[in-house]
Amino acid sequence: MTLRAGVIGWPIEQSKSPIIHAYWLDKFGIEGIYEKIALSPDGFQEGILDLISKGYRGANVTIPHKEAAFQICDTVSERALKIGAVNTLVFEDGKVTGDNTDGYGFLENIRSSLENWNTETGPAFVIGAGGAARGILWALEEAGYKDIRIWNRTVAKAEALAEVFSETTTPVSGDLSDAINGAAFLVNTSSLGMVGQPQLEINLTGLHPDAVVTDIVYNPLETDLLRQANSKGFETVDGLGMLLHQATPGFEKWFGQKPEVTPELRELVLK
Ligand code: NAP
Repeated sequence: MTLRAGVIGWPIEQSKSPIIHAYWLDKFGIEGIYEKIALSPDGFQEGILDLISKGYRGANVTIPHKEAAFQICDTVSERALKIGAVNTLVFEDGKVTGDNTDGYGFLENIRSSLENWNTETGPAFVIGAGGAARGILWALEEAGYKDIRIWNRTVAKAEALAEVFSETTTPVSGDLSDAINGAAFLVNTSSLGMVGQPQLEINLTGLHPDAVVTDIVYNPLETDLLRQANSKGFETVDGLGMLLHQATPGFEKWFGQKPEVTPELRELVLK
């Protein structure tokens, strides 16, 4: 029997997830299919019921459905509950279970990219307060940061997220280059710096000398932020690994094997 799963979005053509899952299906020799599934916001719920009736094992969910997916779940993981959105659905016995693996993917990427990740060097600083920022705040808390600062163009959104993560997170406003003073871990979760978007205007001079700089934007792979950080001698981590690592829990649930993120897979997705 062919095992089926996919990635649901609107639009969905740009998704790289099928490349990742096809690579692992091939590696394990599993008879499975992972496909792009276009569902409009209006047709989301009906589309999910259709996939269940056709025997799909589950699906990844991307923009704009992550909150809607959260709403239709019968049960969600603890981290999805905290994040308030779901990117991985498992269908079993007619029930829908939801998880959010974006923060997990971020964590795994940083852990596997840095030899020593010292979360006690100083505060973490998050730029952006959109959907992705929620997973990153979860991940930074999980990593052990006690002082996380969040800055966003729309200050009210940073304030709202800081309330959800109130034990660790404070909203900051004002000039971004001043606000990052002393930060020891800087992550851009805004869409600034992505192909087709404006650049992130920032001066990194005030960062802690041992700061790590990371960007979850992976197109281009080396954003202006990472280029500036590299030129100033800061350690950097790009965003592609997050995309690869967030896919592993879903694959294991649907196809029954624990996949690995390899340099070969990274090269394949880059191509
Ligand atoms: P989103 O919910 O639409 O949030 C966009 C964020 O960018 C908001 O904070 C928004 O600020 C900010 N922003 C957009 N245009 C801006 C501008 N001109 N000036 C200042 N701020 C601006 O998007 P998302 O889902 O969080 O995704 C954000 C980025 O992360 C995207 O580039 C996405 O591709 C990337 N991402 C990567 C991964 C990965 O696996 N590596 C996973 C998820 C997302 P306002 O609130 O003020 O609008």
